[in-house]
Amino acid sequence: MKAVPNLYIISSVAGGGKSTIIQALLKENPEFYFSISCTTRDPRPGDEEGKTYYFLTIPEFQKKIADGEFYEWAEVHGNYYGTPKAPILDAIKEHRVALMDLDVQGAKSVKQLRPESVTIFIEPPSREIWIERLIRRGTDSKTSIEKRIENGIIELDEAPSFDYVVINDRLEDAITEVKAILCGTKS
Ligand code: 5GP
Repeated sequence: MKAVPNLYIISSVAGGGKSTIIQALLKENPEFYFSISCTTRDPRPGDEEGKTYYFLTIPEFQKKIADGEFYEWAEVHGNYYGTPKAPILDAIKEHRVALMDLDVQGAKSVKQLRPESVTIFIEPPSREIWIERLIRRGTDSKTSIEKRIENGIIELDEAPSFDYVVINDRLEDAITEVKAILCGTKS
C-alpha cells in the first residue's frame, strides 16, 4: 500500500473498532510505525507488555511526566496514558507512516503540536450497536464498561472536530476507507 508518510491519529469510543482497524493496517504494512503507549491501567486478556502497551505503576508514570518523556499524555477512564516522545519523533524524522491510537484529548494535543497530522475518528453506526459491541467484547468489568459508555457519549460529540470520520458499520469497509485516507485518495 502506498501511503503518504505522515502522522495519522486514530481515535474512537471504546469498542468502536479502532484497535482492530489498526491491527489490520499493521499486518498488511509492517513498515508502518505504531506508537506503543505507556499506561497505568491493568493489562487485559490479549495485552502484551511492549506490544500493546508498556504497563507502568502510577509513580513510574508520574516520573516520566516529570522527566518530560511523553510527547503527550492524558487521563482516560481514570488511568494515565502517554506517548513516549523519542520513538515518535524518530519516526517523524524518518518520514515514516506513523499511526497513533489516542483518545480525543491526545488527538487534539498532537494536532496542535503538528497541524499537518491527520486525525481520524472511527464512529460506531449507532449508539445501540456500539453499546452492544462494547458489552460483547467481554474485556472490561461492569464498572469499566459504564465509565467507557459515559466517556464515549462525550467523545462522540467531538467527532466533527476530526479531519475524517469513518463509520464502522462493516469492518472491511471501514478498513478500506481508512486505507484511502492514508493513501491520500479520500476527499
Ligand atoms: P484502552 O484502555 O481501551 O486500551 O484505551 C483507552 C483509551 O486510551 C483509548 O481511547 C485509547 O485510544 C487511549 N489511549 C491509548 N494510548 C494513549 C496515549 O498514549 N495517549 C492518549 N491520550 N490516549 C491513549
